[in-house]
Amino acid sequence: MTTTDSASSPSFIRNIILEDLKANKNDGRVVTRFPPEPNGYLHIGHAKSICLNFGLAVENKGICHLRFDDTNPGKEDVEYVESIKSDVRWLGFDWGDHLYYTSDYFERLYDYAVELIKKGEAYVCSLSREETREYRGTLTEPGRDSQYRGRSAEENLDLFERMRAGEFEDGSHVLRAKIDMASPNLNMRDPTLYRIRRVPHHRTGEKWCIYPLYDFSHCLSDSIEGITHSICTLEFEDNRPLYDWVLDELNVDCHPKQIEFARLNLSFTVLSKRKLVELVRQGHVTAWDDPRMPTISGLRRRGYTPEALRDFCERIGVAKRDSMVDMALLEHCVRQDLNKKTPRVMAVLRPLRVVIENYPRDLVEELDAINNPEDASMGSRKVPFSRVLNIEQDDFQEDPPKKFFRLAPGREVRLRYAYFVTCVRVVKDEQTGEVVELHCTYDPQTRGGDSPDGRKVKGTLHWVSAAHALEAEVRLYDHLFTKPNPGDEKDGTDFKTCLNPDSLEALTSCRVEPCLKGAAPRSRYQFERLGYFCVDSKDSSDEKLVFNRTVTLRDTWAKIEKAQKKKR
Ligand code: ATP
Ligand code: MG
Repeated sequence: MTTTDSASSPSFIRNIILEDLKANKNDGRVVTRFPPEPNGYLHIGHAKSICLNFGLAVENKGICHLRFDDTNPGKEDVEYVESIKSDVRWLGFDWGDHLYYTSDYFERLYDYAVELIKKGEAYVCSLSREETREYRGTLTEPGRDSQYRGRSAEENLDLFERMRAGEFEDGSHVLRAKIDMASPNLNMRDPTLYRIRRVPHHRTGEKWCIYPLYDFSHCLSDSIEGITHSICTLEFEDNRPLYDWVLDELNVDCHPKQIEFARLNLSFTVLSKRKLVELVRQGHVTAWDDPRMPTISGLRRRGYTPEALRDFCERIGVAKRDSMVDMALLEHCVRQDLNKKTPRVMAVLRPLRVVIENYPRDLVEELDAINNPEDASMGSRKVPFSRVLNIEQDDFQEDPPKKFFRLAPGREVRLRYAYFVTCVRVVKDEQTGEVVELHCTYDPQTRGGDSPDGRKVKGTLHWVSAAHALEAEVRLYDHLFTKPNPGDEKDGTDFKTCLNPDSLEALTSCRVEPCLKGAAPRSRYQFERLGYFCVDSKDSSDEKLVFNRTVTLRDTWAKIEKAQKKKR
């Protein structure tokens, strides 16, 4: 698995732009665009493209357009348009006045098509879908000319006009470029430019029943907008000759340079809208913004920050060959960011009752706790301590193995910010034998967690005061898939067969510190020893707080990096 490509080396695209600027191409302008199709929510792969396109524009005092590539009605929707806009903004980028829709160019694109027909460079073809496929040939065999290739410009114009007027059934005719059926590049074998689809469009309604295809609309939209560098993913490399052919044949003023880069693949997830739509529609996740989804909205709901995503995109760099990025790197980036920003609090996910036998029944002490040891300016808070507490069930073992340094019968540990306590008695459920309560004694001399006689303890536990803690639900997440590369369906297996059945664990009787009362949706915290968490933006309420675990504290990436350095 490749990890980072080039954290420090500047990207090859950056170099191309610098060369162009040096040569004073495009009068020194840099105009890029991010062109999503509004047929789904954006995922972290799109974040890479957004950071790249907007980033290059900012770096070079240029502009980056946001263009909706909306030529495929039926699959597209305003819901997606709105979500895409808010995701781009949330990531920290601004398109200013440069918001465009390919559908706004339909009339101009139609005129361009007419121009091609008049030049004899395009024709209306009436082969069926199957025939078209058959005529196309293969990688090793040339294609065959359609019998409609010889239609006169007049006939083509007439048919194309009538296609637009709605006289024909879907699929009965298409407009094709007249290039070369024997071209070794299949994209150049008279590609389809327009097809009939009587489907209402989310912006143009019923106005059109013919729609341009990507290879025709994309290059022309770029050209209309005066894009200088049209950056796309590697799978469009073989479409570049067609991109250039259309713009050359139409003799347009602006001929952008198409540059391809490797798309982001991330381990243990899929980055394809088609697959993500399937997960949503079939209910494998709750919604597009399910915190397990690799969508920007899912990551946002999970507690990721825009800074962490931008840092990640910077670190993975931009390369010309496909690779798989380790999810651990993404998690590392969010940890780094949250470590600086989030206040620490204590929360107990699976509570075990602890009674401090020698602690006065009515006493409540307010103990000082530091909000962030990384940042003194974040100050401190008071945490109530009383006779009955909750600790984590797995912080106690009756019969502990050697390396278990937490609580056990007869053992002394530190309660963070509070006291040293010693377990003196274990109460069990008579029927099940399950440990239901611990009795401890505390040493009043150790207030604040330090012993005056220099006595050492090996474990420090987090805790809450049972009477003061708030109830909360905490959702723990694991990878959505069990395989590192679920998208690899080469052996014919459906990607959904390796969905992880344990990707979500909802713990409904957690206890959190009282300072979290009224915590705002999306606010982020580190729960000591447990990870980074955020208040769920949809399900949390004043009655019941709901938290999502953004990421654990265990930084597997740091380990991977260390091992890699050693190898080198
Ligand atoms: P998907 O396969 O998820 O549907 P797409 O390429 O069809 O993706 P678009 O809406 O057309 O989705 O993509 C908008 C832009 O984002 C394009 O320029 C595309 O190249 C880029 N992009 C999409 N997926 C990735 C990815 N995984 N890594 C980098 N860029 C991506
Ligand atoms: Mg696409």
